Amino acid sequence: MVDLHLHTTASDGVMTPSELVNYAKKKGLLAIAITDHDTIEGLEEGLAEGEKVGLEVIPGLEISAEHSPGSMHLLGFFIDIYHPLLRERLQYLQKARAERNPKIAKKLNSLGIDITLDEVLRASGGGQIGRPHFAQVLLEKGYVQSFQEAFDRFLKKGAPAYVEKMRFSAEESIHFINEANGIAVLAHPNTLQLNGYSELEDLVVQLMGKGLRGIEVYYPEHSAAEVSQYKTLAERYGLLITGGTDYHGIEKNGLDIGVGRGEMKLPYSIVEGLKAARRQSSF
Ligand code: AMP
Ligand code: ZN
Ligand code: FE
Ligand code: FE
Repeated sequence: MVDLHLHTTASDGVMTPSELVNYAKKKGLLAIAITDHDTIEGLEEGLAEGEKVGLEVIPGLEISAEHSPGSMHLLGFFIDIYHPLLRERLQYLQKARAERNPKIAKKLNSLGIDITLDEVLRASGGGQIGRPHFAQVLLEKGYVQSFQEAFDRFLKKGAPAYVEKMRFSAEESIHFINEANGIAVLAHPNTLQLNGYSELEDLVVQLMGKGLRGIEVYYPEHSAAEVSQYKTLAERYGLLITGGTDYHGIEKNGLDIGVGRGEMKLPYSIVEGLKAARRQSSF
């Protein structure tokens, strides 16, 4: 069993990279990919812990790219975490977040909510701050009854405390993933909010022209129909197939690493597929 979509405290997950690696090991996983949002800060620790406990850890990340009206996330696998262009692009994204967070706090304050950036920083555990950490503080302070309510009432796109954040285009995101020797994969296509198969097909073909190599077919929020649609698309265009739970260690009732809500169990052959593609691209 493998899980190729996981978050740690480096972004908005709850477990530190070491805790996540140990948890995956305990659950009997053969390989994991750590794919934090817009950051690789958890990878050094995660890779070292993987070596220590004997679990294969794939260095990855998840980039939020420009897209409307839905959201587009791109996964990068087997990235070189010391690549200068990658590091420069990620630094830029960190700066964009650093500028956005005080604006979210200010908007919440203007809505009569008592919240400080310090409280949000504490909720983040020292890693990158994102909206889930604002949601957590809103929940802890009793302004909302659930994590989801915090997003619906305040934080989601279009809600009163939403603040736009600078993103790179899909093309640029794929470019710097590839430059860093990574394999770029379109994450959870169902969040793109496209109209049916042919719109997705058009987009995927266009992104393949920019260097996209795969598609995340297996994902807890994909329906059986979506899974089969994405699989058909991948097979038709010779794209790699990946999958993962997007486990954050919180929320999302009953979701667990490796198995999702019980239905997942992805074979190691998925990792072998990525590795074969990697060998091809190094010629
Ligand atoms: P940020 O990095 O600040 O843009 O926050 C992105 C994260 O917020 C995502 O990875 C999700 O975990 C969470 N998120 C985004 N939109 C929603 C939503 N509508 N409902 C619940 N969680 C969301
Ligand atoms: Zn997240
Ligand atoms: Fe995502
Ligand atoms: Fe994710």
